[in-house]
This record gives sequence, structure tokens and C-alpha cells, in this order.
Amino acid sequence: MSVRAIIAGSGPVFTKTNPADGEVLWQGASATATECETAVFAARKAFKGWSAMPLASRVAIVRDFAERLKARAGVIFRDIARETGKPLWEAKNELASMIGKIEVSIAAQQERAGSRETQTAFGRSILRHRPHGVMAVLGPYNFPGHLPNGQIVPALLAGDTVVFKPSELTPLTGQHAAECWAETDLPDGVFSLVQGGHETGTALLSADIDGLLFTGSAAAGAYFRRLFVDRPHVILALELGGNNPLIAWDGDPAAAASIIVNSAYMTAGQRCTDARRLIIPDGRYGEEIIAAVKALTDSLRIGPWDDVPEPFMGCLISATAADGARADVAALLQKGAKTLRPFERIVGRSDAFVSPGLIDVTGLAVPDAEIFAPLLQVTRVGDFEAAVTAANNTKFGLAAGLITEDDRLWQRYLAGARAGVINRNRPTSGASALMPFGGVGESGNHRPASYYMADHVAYPAASFEAPLVRDIRSEMKGLGG
Ligand code: NAD
Repeated sequence: MSVRAIIAGSGPVFTKTNPADGEVLWQGASATATECETAVFAARKAFKGWSAMPLASRVAIVRDFAERLKARAGVIFRDIARETGKPLWEAKNELASMIGKIEVSIAAQQERAGSRETQTAFGRSILRHRPHGVMAVLGPYNFPGHLPNGQIVPALLAGDTVVFKPSELTPLTGQHAAECWAETDLPDGVFSLVQGGHETGTALLSADIDGLLFTGSAAAGAYFRRLFVDRPHVILALELGGNNPLIAWDGDPAAAASIIVNSAYMTAGQRCTDARRLIIPDGRYGEEIIAAVKALTDSLRIGPWDDVPEPFMGCLISATAADGARADVAALLQKGAKTLRPFERIVGRSDAFVSPGLIDVTGLAVPDAEIFAPLLQVTRVGDFEAAVTAANNTKFGLAAGLITEDDRLWQRYLAGARAGVINRNRPTSGASALMPFGGVGESGNHRPASYYMADHVAYPAASFEAPLVRDIRSEMKGLGG
């Protein structure tokens, strides 16, 4: 494959630093609108040959990509950690998910986007799936390897070609993935990487693409919906954020706290499925939950990606993100929220580090917004119905959870909850490559990712086929005598 897999930009230069210590990790020029158009043109040119290739050949190339990831594993997971600030153990898990995605995507494609043949009186009816064409993939920073990979791999398997723009906050991870693709036998133009921020993203989407596979914020998703309003033929698969509720209703408080802390603070609150709102009963059990959550949170190790012993969580993606989250929390406190555990800078660390915060917002009209940081907002309610109502009081619908040992309460919650991931006695962030993954409301547009991504990278074509030109007058009514 030629070096054209990585488009050399000539636009504004940007730099990526390690949020934990300021070390420069990557510097390069953004792709201009012309360079994005060139990448899309190359992808369009490559589409015919790539989509006509036997599936087995595409599968072989995608499997080879997995081998390239494995060969560079040590460098890649280290750079994911350095670039995002997440601990090394978590970056290793992310790379393992990328590698695991290959076989899962091959299975998903066969199961959900394969072909089916039925014999009929005239011959046969056949269901086939066809690729859309050129797919733009825009990735987020929180899982810079795994999430775009979960869209790129199914798209390539389906026969689409891809132009990928990683988040401007994680260009290095994007570059590693592109270099691994470049080492395979992918024909020229089938996969290209462009680097840059929003301007590059908009330029890419303004080019002649057939689909956008997007993971990111609800605000960006809304912008893209508007951007494509006059191009309904472009398929949009939008995986967006959430304001995820977790109800803790009964069970051992310390055990419940472990589920709550895991749900709220994993990846420093930078998972789309992290719990943002904790709903508890008024009274003694609620107090026990708060005490147990505070005690467990006090024991969490927070530190740079390579700290020893290893930390539970690292820093946020940038000092700017930390400043923004602190401003959001200050606004909530201004409205009357009470601090149960402060959300603040960590002394002796870079400005991207924040402490896991817990605030009580009971009875307050707080914004229904995703604060992408380790902050949990507590609401106390009088009864279970009020808990379900509070949980559903959001325009989002990505993840939700209930902690209870009462089967009847679980059934009631399940019936009333509106979310794409609804977990019981497990963290809200629990998800599986073998399941669909996506939300309702402002969390997406009903095109769930993960196992169901195969559905959005190909369209079904139904054929009725007879081998011979036979007279079908016997099938017609009302012919004149
Ligand atoms: P983001 O929306 O800021 O950026 C994502 C990508 O879109 C980046 O490549 C960015 O450059 C591009 N982009 C954003 N706005 C743009 C614009 N106006 N014009 C052109 N390009 C634009 O998201 P992020 O901050 O990188 O990621 C965090 C967000 O992603 C959170 O909201 C989180 O909940 C969400 N997320 C959702 C899922 C999911 O599967 N539902 C998974 C992970 C993250």
C-alpha cells in the first residue's frame, strides 16, 4: 500500500501533548479541504475494485491488520495511554478490544449482512447486502483506537472504502492505526487518514461521501444532522453522549458503592456510558450509600498513566476539558447544589487532573447535559416510581442502571427505562462487542454500533431470479379472451 494512506496535510499545524506532563507527542499539519476531497476521490476510485473483491480476500486483509496491531502492541497501548491520560492497564484493554473486534466483525457481517437464498416456483429469491461507497469516519478522543476501529473494520469488510479523521486530541493513535493499515495489502485509496480539527471534519463531510460513521458529542451530532439535511442519501450513524442515570435501591451498601464508583469514575468519567446521576431513596439507606461511595472513592489511586502502583484513573484529556468541567460544577453549586465530595484540581499534578466529585442536586432544576468528567450528581427521591421518573427525566437515552435484588423492581424498571444499555447490579459502562451498542433520544439516531455496525455499512438488496425467460401469463389475471 502506498504512503497515500496517510494524507500529508498542508493546513494549520497543531500539536498534541501528554495531558499529564505536557510532553509533546505529535505535531503535524491539518488536511485542507482540497486534501480531503483528494482522499475522498481516491476512495471513490478504489471502491469498485475493493467492493468487487471476494469477501475472503477482504477478510484476509483485515485479519492481517490485526496481526500488525499485535506486532506494534507495546508502542500503541503506551501511546494511547500517553495521549489520553488513561492508565496503562486501560490502554492495554483498549488495544485488546481493537484486536478482538476483527473476528467479531467478521462474524457480525456474516450474520447480519450476509446473503440468504430461498427456492421459489420460478427460481429463487436472494437477499444480498451491498456496500454504500465512501464512508467518512470521525472519531472521539476517549477511545481513540477502539471506537473508530469498530466502524472502520465493518465498513472495509462490507466493501466500503474509508476516509478517517481522528479527534484532533488524539492524532497519534489515529496515525498508529493508519500505519498498521498501510502495512497490509489494502489497495491504494481504500483507506486514508486525514488529520485536523472541526474545519477538516467539515471539509471531509462536504466532499462526495456516501456515509458518516460518527462517535462523539450530541452537539456535534446535531450539527451533522443539519449539515446533511439536503443529502438524505448519505447514511448517518451517530453514536452520541448521555446523561446516564443509576438508581441504587437496595442491597449491601459497600457492594452497591463498588458498582456506583465503577460506573461514575471509570476512565475519569470520560466514557459515554459513565453514570452521571445517582438516584437514591431518601433516608437511611440513601445515607449509607453516600457514605460507602465516599469511602471507596477516597481509596482510589489517581495518577499518571504509568504510575506504580497503577492508578484507577488518570487525568482528563486536557486542562481545557478540566477547566470546562470545573466551570460546569461551579454553575451547579451556584444553583444550590451541595458538595458531598469536592470536584477540584489535584495538588502537585497537571491542570488536567481532577478529583472525583459528588454533589447533591435534590430538588434543583439542573441542566440535562453531559459533563464529561468524574462528577456524579445525587438526587434523593421518596419512592421507586419517583426514582424511575427521575431516571427517565432526560432527553438522552444511552445507558441506565438499577441496583436492586428485588426482581419485581427490576421488571418495573426494565419496562419503564428508555435507554440502549440497561444494566442490573452491574456498572452502567458494562458493554460487550457481541451486543449492539447505542442509545435513543439525543444519544443517537437509532443506528447502534458494536455488533450492529454491520447493518449501517451495507444496504440490503432483494432479488427475484428466474434463469430462463418464461411466459408468466399464467400468473396474470384479467387477460382478454
Ligand atoms: P466531539 O463531538 O467533540 O468530537 C468527535 C469528532 O468529531 C472529532 O473528530 C471532532 O474533530 C469532530 N467534530 C466535533 N464537532 C465538529 C464540528 N462541529 N465540525 C466538524 N467536526 C467536528 O467528541 P469528543 O469530545 O471527542 O468525544 C466525547 C464525546 O463522545 C462525549 O459526548 C461522549 O459521550 C461521546 N461518545 C459517545 C460514544 C457512543 O458510542 N455513544 C462513545 C464514546 C464517546
